[in-house]
Amino acid sequence: MKIGVIGGGQLGRMLALAGTPLGQRFAFLDPAPDACAQALGEHIRADYSDRDHLRQLADDVDVVTFEFESVPAETVAFLSQFVPVYPNAESLRIARDRWFEKSLFQQLDIPTPEFADIQNQENLDAAVKRIGLPAVLKTRTLGYDGKGQKVLRHPEEVPGAFAELGSVPCILEGFVPFTGEVSLIGVRNRDGETRFYPLVHNSHDQGVLRLSVVSTAHPLQGLAEEYVIKVMQQLDYVGVMAFEFFEVDGGLKANEIAPRVHNSGHWTIEGSECSQFENHLRAIAGLPLGSTAKVGESAMLNFIGEVPPVHEVTSIADCHLHHYGKAFKAGRKVGHATLRCADAVVLQAQIKAVQNLIG
Ligand code: AMP
Repeated sequence: MKIGVIGGGQLGRMLALAGTPLGQRFAFLDPAPDACAQALGEHIRADYSDRDHLRQLADDVDVVTFEFESVPAETVAFLSQFVPVYPNAESLRIARDRWFEKSLFQQLDIPTPEFADIQNQENLDAAVKRIGLPAVLKTRTLGYDGKGQKVLRHPEEVPGAFAELGSVPCILEGFVPFTGEVSLIGVRNRDGETRFYPLVHNSHDQGVLRLSVVSTAHPLQGLAEEYVIKVMQQLDYVGVMAFEFFEVDGGLKANEIAPRVHNSGHWTIEGSECSQFENHLRAIAGLPLGSTAKVGESAMLNFIGEVPPVHEVTSIADCHLHHYGKAFKAGRKVGHATLRCADAVVLQAQIKAVQNLIG
C-alpha cells in the first residue's frame, strides 16, 4: 500500500519509519526543498494548492493523510474526489479553527474555558467585559507552539491588542488557572474501534512543548477518554487524534485537538506496544489497531534549535535519540529523546541527565 502525506516534516518522517515494516511506501507533498521526510519516500515538491501535483499524488497512492492541520480546505476537498483522505475534511475544518473547535466542545458538553468570537476591537472590548481578565487572545487559525496569541492581564493591554495579532479573526478565552496540562492520544479506525494511550503530563516553555511524562493509572484517564470518544464519534474520525486538556479543580477543561500524530505522543515509539505512528497508519489503511499499552515508565524531551552531541545523548542509559535530519535553527524542533526504563525514580534521574545536556 502507498500512503500520500501532505507535509514532509518530522511527523511524516516518523510515519514512514513506522509504516515501512508494514510494507507501506510513502510519497510526501511539501514545497520545502529540504523537507526532512524525503529521506524515507518520494518527495513531490509542490505547493499545497498545486492541483496538477495534487492529482499526481492522488493517482499514485491508495490513501492520503496529513501531518499538519493548516492544510487548505480546498486541498482536502480536491484530493477527496480521487482518493480516500483520513482524517476527513470536516475534522480538519473544525481542528484548524479555534472558534469551531471550542463551539464543538460546548455542543458536546465538554468543559472548556469561556470564549468569544472576536472580529474587531469592539468585539474584544465587549468580550473582556463579559469574561474578565486575565484572558488569552488567540488567532482563530494558524496558531501553533504559542504563536498567534497574547495573554491580556491588565486593562491597559486591551486597546490595540486585536491589531497586535494582525487584525485577523480571533477568539478570547478566559485564563485557566490550571494545575497541569495533559494530553490524550487516541486512535479510531474505519470500523469505529477506538484505543487510547495513557494520559501524558506536558510541560511547555514559551508555548513550546519541552517535556512529556507518561502517567500511570491517572484518575482522569476515563473522563478524558469519554470526551475524546464524543468528538471522534461526532466527526466520524479516522486516525490518531491528540486532545490537550488543562487540569483544573480536579477535572479537565478542553484546550484543543490536533487531527494528527502529535509531539506529546512521540514517547509511544519506544514506550508502548504499538506507536501512535503505526496506529495512525493501521487506522487509515483499514487494518486492526495495535495495543496502546505502555511497556515501562517513559518520558520525552524535545531538542529545540539543536541536537546535543550524539555521543553524549546515546551515553545516557535508557535514552533513545531521534534526530530529524533538519538544519539547526533557533526555536525549531530538530529532534527528541525518549527515555524508557522500568522504574519511575530512575526515570526522573534520566530526565535530569538529558536536561543537563540541553542546558
Ligand atoms: P495553545 O496553542 O492553545 O495550546 O496554547 C499554548 C499554551 O498557552 C498552552 O499549552 C498553555 O500553557 C497556555 N494557554 C493557552 N490557553 C490558555 C488559557 N485559556 N488559560 C491559560 N493558559 C493557556
